[in-house]
Amino acid sequence: MIIAIASGKGGTGKTTVATGLAYTLARDGRRVELLDCDVEEPNAHLFVRPQSDCTEPVGVPVPRVDAEKCTNCGLCSEVCQFNAVACLPDRVVIADELCHGCGACVHFCPVQAMTETDRNIGVLESGRSTLDGVNKLHLRYGRLRIGEAMAVPLIRAVRRAAGPCDVTLIDAPPGTSCPVIAAVKGADFVLLVTEPTPFGLNDLQLAVEMVRALELPLAVVVNRSTVGDRAVWDYCRNENIDILLEIPDDRRIAEAYSRGLIAAEVLPQYAQTFRDLYLGIRDS
Ligand code: SF4
Ligand code: SF4
Repeated sequence: MIIAIASGKGGTGKTTVATGLAYTLARDGRRVELLDCDVEEPNAHLFVRPQSDCTEPVGVPVPRVDAEKCTNCGLCSEVCQFNAVACLPDRVVIADELCHGCGACVHFCPVQAMTETDRNIGVLESGRSTLDGVNKLHLRYGRLRIGEAMAVPLIRAVRRAAGPCDVTLIDAPPGTSCPVIAAVKGADFVLLVTEPTPFGLNDLQLAVEMVRALELPLAVVVNRSTVGDRAVWDYCRNENIDILLEIPDDRRIAEAYSRGLIAAEVLPQYAQTFRDLYLGIRDS
């Protein structure tokens, strides 16, 4: 089963839920693949403490022009949907940062003046958790190069890297744009983590729209459920969305998080909470 954990905005407790589920399910003997797809700011490794077994560079193909062959016809600029090619009077200029590596310009060049070369965008890291009593938890995560805008190909590489397992957990990037869609697409279930505040509700509504557009089943986790107002509950009731877990504003969870510890690791009562959450997802 592939479960994506997402949220409309950052800082809602997505990683707390993803690592809590991963730790609990692996402790119970399941083979778990945790994919941290928040490639701009991966942090699951700080909690899972993996022993690295692989680091691979990830690149995207970008075109290069052979000036000897180019007739300056301008077709490559016309077919590029991302404005990454400019045909100047005397040469063709490619803006690598804008190029999505779709290959259209290379394909349509009438004189085969274009070839592709790989541009590095980051690295894919893999490793097995070294947490006590957890030997079936494998973490994969991407680290996007600083200043790099092309997160989606790296997220796809993290998704592709998942090995055989009982449960795949995807820690998606925050927001509702292309990187999130790349992370959650193809999941069996999406868990949206939110907070009971006006901002939390607004971002939850956007996230629900995105997940519904992808036609994926979803449910909500309310983090810091003992603060704020009840608007999130009203919204979920009106939209027929299940709230599968409410995590109270527990200072001990925040302390564990700040020390790089998984809540279920140091507060055993939360292990049962995450076990129940998984059963709730399976029964949804
Ligand atoms: S399509 Fe090919 S020949 Fe035409 S401008 Fe681009 S690189 Fe040159
Ligand atoms: S590979 Fe695609 S995105 Fe990149 S320059 Fe060519 S047409 Fe544009």
